Amino acid sequence: MSDSTTTQTSKQESDTSQLTNPTLVLNCGSSSIKYALISEDESTRITGLAENLGLDTARIKHTALSGEKLEISIPGGRHKLALQKILELLEQYHFIAVGHRGVHGGREYSEAVQVTDHVLSEVKRLKSLAPLHNPANALGIEAVQAIYPDIPQVVVFDTAFHQTMPAVAYRYPIPKALYEDHKIRRYGFHGTSHAYVSERASQITEAGGTHGWLTAHLGNGCSAAAVYDGKSLDTSMGLTPLEGLMMGTRSGDVDPSLHIHLKRQLDMSLEDIDKMLNSDSGLLGISGLSNDMRTVEEAANEGHKDAKLAIEMFAYRAGKYLASLSCALPEFTGIIFTGGIGENSASTRARILNVMRHFGISFDADKNKTLAGGAEGSFHSSDSSVELWVIPTDEERQIAKETRQTLGLA
Ligand code: ADP
Repeated sequence: MSDSTTTQTSKQESDTSQLTNPTLVLNCGSSSIKYALISEDESTRITGLAENLGLDTARIKHTALSGEKLEISIPGGRHKLALQKILELLEQYHFIAVGHRGVHGGREYSEAVQVTDHVLSEVKRLKSLAPLHNPANALGIEAVQAIYPDIPQVVVFDTAFHQTMPAVAYRYPIPKALYEDHKIRRYGFHGTSHAYVSERASQITEAGGTHGWLTAHLGNGCSAAAVYDGKSLDTSMGLTPLEGLMMGTRSGDVDPSLHIHLKRQLDMSLEDIDKMLNSDSGLLGISGLSNDMRTVEEAANEGHKDAKLAIEMFAYRAGKYLASLSCALPEFTGIIFTGGIGENSASTRARILNVMRHFGISFDADKNKTLAGGAEGSFHSSDSSVELWVIPTDEERQIAKETRQTLGLA
């Protein structure tokens, strides 16, 4: 550990009282680990990111309680080493539980679950459904177990929130043996985010009765969901996170025969097609410039034709999906925008709502423009058929909350 780390650590020690009974939230990806230490009352947190794991540039970027930032290089370091360092940095705060973001819980998990040997083996077994994420989740669980065997751990699966979908929404119209014998069905993802923003909207709306929300999580990955009475009734992602909306680098929906067509016509391998649809498509594929909405918007404003088409397609596909998801809701209270694009891009929100122009939605264009940079608020006009909200997502907070609830600490 560098000198700067040592100095920082001693500075933080005086602050530990602000972080009472904290929960450590770990989001272990294939080459990165995001972490947040969140106090029991959810008012205080320490955050950080280990990135480029396995590469020479592997490093941990840590933001202390004071807001000061430090960076620790761990050249070549992988998950195990990064987690050891992260746990060292946080040890002084005496966290009482660890909550992991789990990506795929299959049909087995419809809510957060405390880690046992069985749960750990299930996370590993479900690797077939999430090859990049579930092994990283398992590494995270094992690293904590090795150092803190007595601290309880919980996994909050991204798929769990959507387990309330009815069969009409989660089945594919394909032979039933594929579902019964091989679990081929729609699962949905981003569940923690859809759960958080819909619950939050239900707390702050003045609408009475039972609420029905369309939630649009628009970030690098994008998905939409129909949430009624706190339960997901349908969502845009499916067996994998590729289905549904156009995203940063992912295509979203395409003709299912595209694979066989490309194989026959261009002799592309299945792996190449999979990579193309996941990594080279979406905003990046259409604009030819970037997967980052800011870059694409800037280019479009300067007259770049493909960038213009990319943002129009992004909005058209999102609006079309939201319109179709409204069919799942017994009541339609409003639309919630979240994720980096949903929270910040007023022009994308306006474009999407324009696609839905037959719904009787009207909004205050100036108010829409003020909602950015972490602001929470509504922007519908008083005569709008439904409410419109921007609610910054907080998956870490939701995972910490579900972890405490699962362990009976809340
Ligand atoms: P992830 O899915 O990786 O968590 P985010 O939710 O952070 O991603 O969203 C990243 C996306 O948000 C990027 O496309 C980025 O360009 C977009 N974004 C962030 N800020 C703005 C902004 N001010 N205007 C437009 N897009 C933005």
